[in-house]
Amino acid sequence: VEAHTCNGNAAPKAGETAATTDCDPPKTVVVSHENGNAAHEQDKKKGRHAAVGHKSVLQSDALYQYILETSVYPRESPYQKELREITEKHPWNLMTTPPDEGQFLMLLLKLINAKNTMELGVYTGYSLLSTALALPDDGKIIAIDINRQNYELGAPVIEKAGLNHKIDFREGLILPQLDDMLLEEKYIDFFDFIFVDADKDNYVNYHERLLKLVKVGGVIGYDNTLWNGSLVAPEDVPYPTYVRHYRPFVLELNQVLAADDQIEISQIPVGDGITLCRRIK
Ligand code: SAM
Ligand code: CA
Repeated sequence: VEAHTCNGNAAPKAGETAATTDCDPPKTVVVSHENGNAAHEQDKKKGRHAAVGHKSVLQSDALYQYILETSVYPRESPYQKELREITEKHPWNLMTTPPDEGQFLMLLLKLINAKNTMELGVYTGYSLLSTALALPDDGKIIAIDINRQNYELGAPVIEKAGLNHKIDFREGLILPQLDDMLLEEKYIDFFDFIFVDADKDNYVNYHERLLKLVKVGGVIGYDNTLWNGSLVAPEDVPYPTYVRHYRPFVLELNQVLAADDQIEISQIPVGDGITLCRRIK
Protein backbone atom coordinates (compact mmCIF):
# COMPACT_ATOMS: atom_id res chain seq x y z
CA VAL A 1 0.00 0.00 0.00
CA GLU A 2 1.39 3.39 -0.72
CA ALA A 3 0.34 6.96 -0.78
CA HIS A 4 1.20 9.14 -3.72
CA THR A 5 0.89 12.48 -2.08
CA CYS A 6 2.82 13.82 0.77
CA ASN A 7 0.87 16.81 1.57
CA GLY A 8 1.39 17.38 5.25
CA ASN A 9 -2.01 18.93 5.45
CA ALA A 10 -3.97 16.50 3.39
CA ALA A 11 -6.75 15.12 5.49
CA PRO A 12 -6.45 11.39 5.14
CA LYS A 13 -9.84 9.71 5.14
CA ALA A 14 -10.69 6.64 7.14
CA GLY A 15 -9.69 3.51 5.33
CA GLU A 16 -7.23 5.30 3.05
CA THR A 17 -3.51 5.08 3.28
CA ALA A 18 -2.06 8.09 5.04
CA ALA A 19 0.51 10.15 3.28
CA THR A 20 3.38 10.19 5.65
CA THR A 21 3.85 13.92 5.38
CA ASP A 22 7.49 13.07 5.67
CA CYS A 23 8.42 12.75 2.22
CA ASP A 24 11.32 10.57 2.57
CA PRO A 25 8.54 8.14 2.08
CA PRO A 26 4.88 7.53 1.79
CA LYS A 27 3.42 5.90 4.82
CA THR A 28 2.21 2.36 4.67
CA VAL A 29 1.03 1.50 8.13
CA VAL A 30 -2.71 1.68 7.72
CA VAL A 31 -5.49 0.23 9.73
CA SER A 32 -9.02 1.31 9.06
CA HIS A 33 -10.39 3.03 12.14
CA GLU A 34 -13.69 1.40 11.36
CA ASN A 35 -12.13 -1.84 12.51
CA GLY A 36 -10.65 -0.22 15.57
CA ASN A 37 -13.12 -1.51 18.12
CA ALA A 38 -13.06 -5.06 16.81
CA ALA A 39 -9.27 -4.99 16.79
CA HIS A 40 -9.27 -3.67 20.32
CA GLU A 41 -11.58 -6.47 21.48
CA GLN A 42 -9.28 -9.00 19.81
CA ASP A 43 -6.25 -7.46 21.45
CA LYS A 44 -7.92 -7.58 24.84
CA LYS A 45 -8.44 -11.30 24.42
CA LYS A 46 -4.75 -11.73 23.63
CA GLY A 47 -3.72 -10.01 26.84
CA ARG A 48 -2.29 -6.68 27.81
CA HIS A 49 0.91 -6.86 25.80
CA ALA A 50 -0.99 -7.42 22.59
CA ALA A 51 -3.35 -4.63 23.51
CA VAL A 52 -0.42 -2.25 23.82
CA GLY A 53 1.01 -3.78 20.66
CA HIS A 54 0.92 -1.47 17.68
CA LYS A 55 -1.40 1.04 19.26
CA SER A 56 1.32 3.61 19.51
CA VAL A 57 1.96 3.27 15.79
CA LEU A 58 -0.73 5.32 14.17
CA GLN A 59 -3.74 3.13 13.73
CA SER A 60 -5.93 5.25 11.52
CA ASP A 61 -5.89 8.21 9.22
CA ALA A 62 -8.83 9.73 11.06
CA LEU A 63 -6.87 9.53 14.29
CA TYR A 64 -3.92 11.28 12.68
CA GLN A 65 -6.21 14.04 11.47
CA TYR A 66 -7.61 14.31 14.97
CA ILE A 67 -4.08 14.73 16.40
CA LEU A 68 -3.28 17.44 13.88
CA GLU A 69 -6.47 19.37 14.40
CA THR A 70 -6.60 19.04 18.18
CA SER A 71 -3.01 19.28 19.35
CA VAL A 72 -0.81 20.42 16.49
CA TYR A 73 -2.35 23.02 14.17
CA PRO A 74 -3.72 25.21 16.97
CA ARG A 75 -0.20 25.47 18.41
CA GLU A 76 1.77 25.68 15.19
CA SER A 77 3.38 29.11 14.80
CA PRO A 78 2.24 31.25 11.84
CA TYR A 79 5.77 30.89 10.44
CA GLN A 80 5.61 27.11 10.51
CA LYS A 81 2.18 27.23 8.89
CA GLU A 82 3.45 29.52 6.16
CA LEU A 83 6.46 27.31 5.48
CA ARG A 84 4.32 24.18 5.53
CA GLU A 85 2.00 25.75 2.95
CA ILE A 86 4.92 26.84 0.75
CA THR A 87 6.36 23.33 0.95
CA GLU A 88 3.03 21.71 0.08
CA LYS A 89 3.29 23.28 -3.38
CA HIS A 90 6.76 21.86 -3.98
CA PRO A 91 7.02 18.67 -6.05
CA TRP A 92 9.16 16.90 -3.44
CA ASN A 93 6.93 17.83 -0.52
CA LEU A 94 6.92 14.20 0.57
CA MET A 95 10.30 15.00 2.13
CA THR A 96 9.07 17.55 4.65
CA THR A 97 8.90 16.90 8.38
CA PRO A 98 5.23 16.53 9.37
CA PRO A 99 3.94 19.17 11.81
CA ASP A 100 3.27 16.72 14.64
CA GLU A 101 6.91 15.65 14.45
CA GLY A 102 7.98 19.31 14.35
CA GLN A 103 6.02 19.86 17.55
CA PHE A 104 7.63 16.78 19.11
CA LEU A 105 11.12 18.03 18.24
CA MET A 106 10.40 21.44 19.73
CA LEU A 107 9.28 19.98 23.04
CA LEU A 108 12.24 17.59 23.10
CA LEU A 109 14.72 20.42 22.54
CA LYS A 110 13.22 22.36 25.40
CA LEU A 111 13.16 19.32 27.68
CA ILE A 112 16.87 18.76 27.18
CA ASN A 113 17.70 22.50 27.26
CA ALA A 114 19.42 22.25 23.90
CA LYS A 115 21.55 25.16 22.77
CA ASN A 116 23.98 23.87 20.15
CA THR A 117 22.38 21.63 17.54
CA MET A 118 23.01 20.28 14.06
CA GLU A 119 20.63 19.21 11.32
CA LEU A 120 21.65 16.88 8.49
CA GLY A 121 19.14 17.23 5.64
CA VAL A 122 17.26 20.54 5.53
CA TYR A 123 15.07 20.51 2.37
CA THR A 124 12.79 23.61 2.66
CA GLY A 125 13.47 23.91 6.38
CA TYR A 126 10.39 22.88 8.36
CA SER A 127 12.37 20.97 11.00
CA LEU A 128 15.06 23.67 10.93
CA LEU A 129 12.51 26.40 11.58
CA SER A 130 10.92 24.32 14.35
CA THR A 131 14.34 23.82 15.94
CA ALA A 132 15.19 27.51 15.66
CA LEU A 133 11.88 28.44 17.30
CA ALA A 134 12.57 26.09 20.21
CA LEU A 135 16.16 27.12 20.94
CA PRO A 136 17.02 30.01 23.25
CA ASP A 137 18.04 33.30 21.64
CA ASP A 138 21.73 32.39 21.81
CA GLY A 139 21.10 28.89 20.44
CA LYS A 140 22.86 27.80 17.23
CA ILE A 141 22.10 25.26 14.50
CA ILE A 142 24.58 24.04 11.92
CA ALA A 143 22.38 22.91 9.03
CA ILE A 144 23.90 20.91 6.17
CA ASP A 145 22.31 20.13 2.81
CA ILE A 146 23.64 19.56 -0.68
CA ASN A 147 20.69 21.50 -2.07
CA ARG A 148 20.59 25.23 -1.33
CA GLN A 149 17.76 25.92 -3.76
CA ASN A 150 15.16 24.12 -1.65
CA TYR A 151 16.45 25.77 1.53
CA GLU A 152 15.98 29.13 -0.16
CA LEU A 153 12.24 28.48 -0.38
CA GLY A 154 12.03 28.45 3.41
CA ALA A 155 14.80 30.95 4.18
CA PRO A 156 12.60 34.08 3.81
CA VAL A 157 10.14 32.67 6.36
CA ILE A 158 12.98 31.90 8.77
CA GLU A 159 14.26 35.44 8.29
CA LYS A 160 10.78 36.90 8.85
CA ALA A 161 10.58 34.91 12.08
CA GLY A 162 13.76 36.69 13.22
CA LEU A 163 15.73 33.46 13.50
CA ASN A 164 18.57 33.97 11.02
CA HIS A 165 21.11 34.59 13.75
CA LYS A 166 20.65 31.04 15.04
CA ILE A 167 21.30 29.32 11.70
CA ASP A 168 24.56 28.45 10.00
CA PHE A 169 23.52 26.83 6.71
CA ARG A 170 26.34 24.90 5.06
CA GLU A 171 25.83 23.78 1.49
CA GLY A 172 27.48 20.53 0.51
CA LEU A 173 27.83 16.84 1.18
CA ILE A 174 27.40 15.79 4.77
CA LEU A 175 30.09 13.16 5.22
CA PRO A 176 33.14 15.29 4.30
CA GLN A 177 31.79 18.15 6.41
CA LEU A 178 31.50 15.85 9.42
CA ASP A 179 35.05 14.67 8.80
CA ASP A 180 36.21 18.29 8.73
CA MET A 181 34.39 18.99 11.99
CA LEU A 182 36.10 16.03 13.62
CA LEU A 183 39.43 17.74 12.95
CA GLU A 184 38.32 20.83 14.87
CA GLU A 185 38.64 20.45 18.59
CA LYS A 186 35.73 22.77 19.33
CA TYR A 187 33.21 20.38 17.76
CA ILE A 188 34.27 17.32 19.76
CA ASP A 189 31.63 16.51 22.41
CA PHE A 190 29.93 19.74 21.36
CA PHE A 191 26.31 19.24 20.30
CA ASP A 192 23.30 18.93 22.58
CA PHE A 193 21.13 17.59 19.77
CA ILE A 194 21.63 16.36 16.20
CA PHE A 195 18.72 15.66 13.83
CA VAL A 196 19.61 13.26 11.03
CA ASP A 197 17.22 13.37 8.08
CA ALA A 198 19.25 12.84 4.91
CA ASP A 199 20.52 9.87 2.85
CA LYS A 200 19.52 6.72 4.71
CA ASP A 201 22.34 4.65 3.19
CA ASN A 202 24.83 6.80 5.08
CA TYR A 203 23.24 6.82 8.53
CA VAL A 204 25.60 4.19 9.91
CA ASN A 205 28.57 6.20 8.63
CA TYR A 206 27.11 9.33 10.18
CA HIS A 207 26.50 7.53 13.47
CA GLU A 208 30.16 6.60 13.86
CA ARG A 209 31.12 10.26 13.48
CA LEU A 210 28.21 11.83 15.34
CA LEU A 211 29.04 9.86 18.48
CA LYS A 212 32.18 11.97 18.72
CA LEU A 213 30.42 15.26 17.95
CA VAL A 214 27.42 14.93 20.27
CA LYS A 215 28.22 15.46 23.95
CA VAL A 216 27.77 12.76 26.56
CA GLY A 217 24.15 13.22 27.65
CA GLY A 218 23.29 14.76 24.27
CA VAL A 219 20.78 13.29 21.84
CA ILE A 220 20.90 12.19 18.21
CA GLY A 221 17.56 11.71 16.43
CA TYR A 222 17.58 9.45 13.36
CA ASP A 223 14.52 10.10 11.25
CA ASN A 224 12.46 7.66 9.18
CA THR A 225 13.51 4.59 11.12
CA LEU A 226 10.14 2.92 10.45
CA TRP A 227 10.71 3.41 6.72
CA ASN A 228 7.10 3.47 5.62
CA GLY A 229 6.33 0.25 7.40
CA SER A 230 8.35 -1.55 4.73
CA LEU A 231 10.67 -3.03 7.36
CA VAL A 232 8.09 -5.68 8.26
CA ALA A 233 6.18 -5.91 4.99
CA PRO A 234 6.03 -9.07 2.86
CA GLU A 235 8.44 -9.23 -0.08
CA ASP A 236 5.70 -8.77 -2.67
CA VAL A 237 4.40 -5.39 -1.46
CA PRO A 238 4.99 -3.06 -4.44
CA TYR A 239 6.86 -0.26 -2.74
CA PRO A 240 8.38 2.52 -4.82
CA THR A 241 11.96 1.89 -5.87
CA TYR A 242 13.46 4.32 -3.35
CA VAL A 243 11.68 2.58 -0.49
CA ARG A 244 13.00 -0.80 -1.59
CA HIS A 245 16.46 0.64 -2.20
CA TYR A 246 16.91 2.15 1.28
CA ARG A 247 15.05 -0.56 3.21
CA PRO A 248 18.14 -2.74 3.95
CA PHE A 249 20.06 0.31 5.16
CA VAL A 250 17.32 1.27 7.61
CA LEU A 251 17.13 -2.35 8.81
CA GLU A 252 20.88 -2.31 9.35
CA LEU A 253 20.78 1.03 11.15
CA ASN A 254 18.11 -0.19 13.56
CA GLN A 255 20.27 -3.23 14.34
CA VAL A 256 23.38 -1.11 14.82
CA LEU A 257 21.61 1.32 17.15
CA ALA A 258 20.03 -1.49 19.16
CA ALA A 259 23.44 -3.10 19.69
CA ASP A 260 25.40 0.07 20.47
CA ASP A 261 26.32 0.28 24.15
CA GLN A 262 27.41 3.91 23.82
CA ILE A 263 23.79 5.02 23.62
CA GLU A 264 20.40 4.61 25.22
CA ILE A 265 17.66 4.48 22.60
CA SER A 266 13.96 4.81 22.03
CA GLN A 267 12.09 4.30 18.77
CA ILE A 268 9.40 6.99 18.73
CA PRO A 269 6.54 6.31 16.30
CA VAL A 270 5.92 9.91 15.32
CA GLY A 271 6.01 10.74 11.62
CA ASP A 272 7.82 7.89 9.88
CA GLY A 273 9.57 7.00 13.13
CA ILE A 274 12.43 8.77 14.86
CA THR A 275 14.95 6.86 16.94
CA LEU A 276 16.31 8.95 19.77
CA CYS A 277 19.79 8.04 20.95
CA ARG A 278 21.24 9.51 24.14
CA ARG A 279 25.01 9.25 24.28
CA ILE A 280 26.06 7.72 27.58
CA LYS A 281 29.78 7.21 27.03
N1 SAM B 1 14.49 17.83 7.54
C1 SAM B 1 13.89 18.27 6.30
C2 SAM B 1 12.55 18.92 6.55
O1 SAM B 1 12.10 19.06 7.67
O2 SAM B 1 11.91 19.32 5.56
C3 SAM B 1 13.75 17.16 5.29
C4 SAM B 1 15.06 16.67 4.74
S1 SAM B 1 14.85 15.69 3.29
C5 SAM B 1 14.08 14.27 3.90
C6 SAM B 1 16.49 15.10 2.93
C7 SAM B 1 17.46 16.19 2.51
O3 SAM B 1 18.76 15.62 2.59
C8 SAM B 1 17.30 16.69 1.10
O4 SAM B 1 17.10 18.09 1.13
C9 SAM B 1 18.60 16.35 0.39
O5 SAM B 1 19.08 17.36 -0.46
C10 SAM B 1 19.56 16.16 1.55
N2 SAM B 1 20.64 15.19 1.32
C11 SAM B 1 20.52 13.90 0.97
N3 SAM B 1 21.72 13.31 0.92
C12 SAM B 1 22.63 14.26 1.24
C13 SAM B 1 24.05 14.26 1.39
N4 SAM B 1 24.77 13.15 1.20
N5 SAM B 1 24.66 15.41 1.74
C14 SAM B 1 23.94 16.55 1.92
N6 SAM B 1 22.59 16.60 1.83
C15 SAM B 1 21.95 15.48 1.48
CA1 CA C 1 12.38 12.68 7.42
